[in-house]
Amino acid sequence: MRGSGARRVSCFMTHGYRTRRLAVDYSIPLMTDVKCTKLLVEAMRLIGRAPPMNTHTDCIAGRRMTKLPGFIDVHVHLREPGATHKETFATGTAAALAGGITMVLAMPNTEPAIVDRASLQHAQELAQKGARCDYALFVGASANNCTTVGELAGRAAGLKMYLNETFTTLRLDGIDLWQAHLAAWPRRAPLCVHAERHSLGTVLLLASLTDRAIHVCHVARKEEILMIKAAKERGHRITCEVCPHHLFLSTADTERVGGPGWAQVRPVLGTPDDQQALWDNLDVIDVFATDHAPHTREEKQSPDGAPPGFPGLETILPLLLNAVSQGRLTLEQLILKFHRNPKRIFNLPDQPNTYVEVDFDEEWTIPERPAHSKAQWTPFAGMRVKGCVHRVVLRGETAYVDGVVLAPPGFGQNVRDWPARKLLLPHTEPEPEMNDEFIRLLIAASPEAKAQARQVAPPAAPAAAVAPPQPPVVSPVPHRVRCDSSGAGIPRPDLGTTRHGHELNLIGRHVLTVDMFSKEHLNELFHLAQTMRARVVKDRPLDDLLRGKVMASIFYEVSTRTSCSFAAAMQRLGGCVVHVDESSSSARKGETLEDSIQVMAGYADVVVLRHPVPGAVARAAHHCRKPLINAGDGVGEHPTQALLDIFTIREELGTVNGITITMVGDLKHGRTVHSLARLLTLYDVSLRYVCPAGLEMPERVKEFVDRKGIPQRQFPTLESAIADTDVLYMTRIQRERFATDEEYQKCCGQLVLTPQTMTFAKRRMAVLHPLPRVNEISPEIDNDPRSAYFRQAEYGMYVRMALLAMVLGRC
Ligand SMILES: [Zn+2]
Repeated sequence: MRGSGARRVSCFMTHGYRTRRLAVDYSIPLMTDVKCTKLLVEAMRLIGRAPPMNTHTDCIAGRRMTKLPGFIDVHVHLREPGATHKETFATGTAAALAGGITMVLAMPNTEPAIVDRASLQHAQELAQKGARCDYALFVGASANNCTTVGELAGRAAGLKMYLNETFTTLRLDGIDLWQAHLAAWPRRAPLCVHAERHSLGTVLLLASLTDRAIHVCHVARKEEILMIKAAKERGHRITCEVCPHHLFLSTADTERVGGPGWAQVRPVLGTPDDQQALWDNLDVIDVFATDHAPHTREEKQSPDGAPPGFPGLETILPLLLNAVSQGRLTLEQLILKFHRNPKRIFNLPDQPNTYVEVDFDEEWTIPERPAHSKAQWTPFAGMRVKGCVHRVVLRGETAYVDGVVLAPPGFGQNVRDWPARKLLLPHTEPEPEMNDEFIRLLIAASPEAKAQARQVAPPAAPAAAVAPPQPPVVSPVPHRVRCDSSGAGIPRPDLGTTRHGHELNLIGRHVLTVDMFSKEHLNELFHLAQTMRARVVKDRPLDDLLRGKVMASIFYEVSTRTSCSFAAAMQRLGGCVVHVDESSSSARKGETLEDSIQVMAGYADVVVLRHPVPGAVARAAHHCRKPLINAGDGVGEHPTQALLDIFTIREELGTVNGITITMVGDLKHGRTVHSLARLLTLYDVSLRYVCPAGLEMPERVKEFVDRKGIPQRQFPTLESAIADTDVLYMTRIQRERFATDEEYQKCCGQLVLTPQTMTFAKRRMAVLHPLPRVNEISPEIDNDPRSAYFRQAEYGMYVRMALLAMVLGRC
């Protein structure tokens, strides 16, 4: 185990470890203390049967506490300023923490409404004093702010447009106003609409005409979810949220909620048929959000019309956990729709060291008066649920534990003030995408980000120094949430723009080089790969993830391993594969690569391409309107190999930081080591090279590594480098690179890893090899627990599964 929080070293699987792992995986009680075991056996012998158990106390250690990410509620009304008798930042965010929510996005229909710089500033000051969890505030679209409100995009959670009657003065009448706002709000900034029935149809049409992404709040009816489904299937950039009261209540519950006044909410509760349609279309729902809209008990009882709205922050997670227990929802769906999708859609930063501990087994009844919100009531009162929030840790501090909110008012931070624009400021680019209004505003909004922008912008662009300048790559399916075979995705240069830099997600993007990945991408990818691995190992099905998707696998150069690994990955996720190799392609009849790719892109949802000529894959990408994954181009790049190498290091050693990696063999021609060295610069590592004279690491790679401040050193022999090495990366030396056989024999003799050499190595080193090997690793070492190369090949499949799922927008 290395460093803090590192995971186990998987290559040292002792019997004890395996037994404990089995006990955990299959929830079998296990005693690890021999004395206790003897006592238990003796006791059982005396009483002649299994010991009687008091499940309240004897089984308390068996509580299934699960650590989940901090949840994000993108739709809350905290009523401050203006209606602080209903809720305040302090009480609303206390309710959020009690519900396992660590970040809220608050709506602008306050009094005064947040529609300009002054009102936003005022609300931000109040939030800064009161909020206990992290937050961002929306601005509202009004009849007269469409030309000015865009300036606030970098400081706001997003723009909210009210297109139907609800509890606000912000309703927009007139389609011309809708159009003006859709056109004026910066393109990549989040835009939410409250749109029901006909309004939804209209705004979907307008959004598709201007080709802008919109997020639809609180979808409640069957007709609406089906309309959104159809729009998504046609590739429109639309996302949507559903609230717990529409998932768990319907008109059939009106009396149970307390009668028509208590059941008032916008959108109104659906019929049981509407409710069922939401469950039937779970995969269309991107986000779960509360629409926490508190009113006091007195107001809801008022004889002259109860105001519409339910509180929901304290109950959403228990209701969803209960749905997980009942098997109506999977844990993956919960995390996707209540954490990852909100982050992606609203461009929210990671909250470091933030998580929620839940107990899946605790059963309890939702009380009449939940403790924290000023509303002091809930439409879910009396419902029996299984699953509760035990503890919430926010940025390293325990913010809530077993009913008590510990975070004081003011502990919450406005996430739009964070210098988290790292993700948007690619370090390989000389300047951020200045044509993008939203990014410009985000940068302008944060002074730290501005300073950082200056810092990360080197005088010369490293990317350009490493690879010859390329024409801009057209993103195949720009910003589309789904990529369906039916989508008529014609590349649009105005939307695609150049994207060598880091975007927030990989959906619809080409994977051509390792330079496109940020550390956040890698974390997400590896986390997903780990999940895939766990599921495959436990024989849990994953084949619904890419069902119906087609991968074209085009190999102009033979590589059985890579093509099989991709094919296995796609098939395990339920997709199918069309394979073309040089002998079966039309290239024999003289068809150009460009034409072949265009044709295959028409058949498939994702294209995997290997080509012997460096740069050929990037060239093909210009003609591919589906995501294209580079599976190796000559001596150029092999990005998925580098990804799986780093994943292997993580799995084997538990971390990629603070380690020494020694690369051995033909470093001049080995594309795997070039890609790996560059990708490793994202971590705190040091590199060592051992190679025959004349096969050194190319200068361009060394310069790149140097610029990132990563130490690198050449060593004359394997023995001299191996002692402090954590990862030994062996590669093959090709005989044809040498003038004479004698020279070859001399060289390779020095670079063969033998049991003798291994005696100089650390006990916890990992030996990697991209395979196939020839004679550079002697087979006696295969049984050494440090030999990770066959596991490495297997990990490659999990990494490719994760990459395919991410590129196709399914994870
Ligand atoms: Zn609302």
